[in-house]
Amino acid sequence: MLTDLHTHSTASDGTDEPGALIRAAEAAGLEAVALTDHDSTAGWAEACAALPPGMRLLRGAEFSCVHEDEQGRTVSLHLLGYLFDPAAPAIVTEQDRLAAERTRRFRKMAERMQGDGFPIDAESILASLPADTPPGRPHLARALLHAGVVSSVDEAFTRYLAAGAPYYLGRADTDVRTAVAMVRAAGGVPVLAHPLARTRGPVPSAEAIEQLAGQGLAGLEADHPDHSEADRGRLRGLATELGLLVTGSSDYHGQNKTVRLGQETTPPETVERIAAAATGVPVIRG
Ligand code: AMP
Ligand code: ZN
Ligand code: FE
Ligand code: FE
Repeated sequence: MLTDLHTHSTASDGTDEPGALIRAAEAAGLEAVALTDHDSTAGWAEACAALPPGMRLLRGAEFSCVHEDEQGRTVSLHLLGYLFDPAAPAIVTEQDRLAAERTRRFRKMAERMQGDGFPIDAESILASLPADTPPGRPHLARALLHAGVVSSVDEAFTRYLAAGAPYYLGRADTDVRTAVAMVRAAGGVPVLAHPLARTRGPVPSAEAIEQLAGQGLAGLEADHPDHSEADRGRLRGLATELGLLVTGSSDYHGQNKTVRLGQETTPPETVERIAAAATGVPVIRG
């Protein structure tokens, strides 16, 4: 009964097409999987169509969010939304806005790299993406890899693309409180993704997480490849204190990351509680 609740396909910045991701999940022995592409539900239909008999799919997305902390710092946060209605007007409007914002920022980063002599052509990369795929830094990283500028996606991030690296540019993401409210209003279940992934930048305080819990947050992703054992323990403790669900997931991105599907998993009773709390769209069984 293994479930992986956080995966990315070519509908955002993973390298497996949604159908191939479902087949890989079956091969990995998973009983259920959630498809959570960044700011997009474009992969849902293909994933549903590929479900083998008995496997279950939780349709979801990972919303790119920001939060201003107590010291006025901008903290980047990712919010997983499960089983929300994809036609909810607030979600459609916000995903459209973010797609445009991602494309604008992608072109700007690519232009700067090209200006410095890197063989990066924004328009040909954008044209190669499946329809409705919001562009992101991993697409630039892959282009650098293919051009032989770097020897791994990770190296591309470290040298050029990570926050603080020479070509990093920010983006106007969604206020996390707005995103929690938007997912709830669409009948979905909001879970904070990798809240303590410290290598990516500043992380939210326990007080900030407590406030989000008061505003409708349903769970915390404690078991994530970017979390230390100590941080997993901290998040479990916080979840118990605040009455939040605890999930585990790989954040699979195909060849863009070294994690395996099912490397981290969520217990069946937690999956049942997420399914029971949702009113947007049902869990689909193949
Ligand atoms: P973006 O949405 O364009 O800001 O890009 C963020 C994505 O890049 C996230 O999905 C991360 O998982 C991925 N990412 C961040 N750092 C790394 C890294 N060092 N190696 C591979 N992927 C990364
Ligand atoms: Zn990603
Ligand atoms: Fe994330
Ligand atoms: Fe992710």
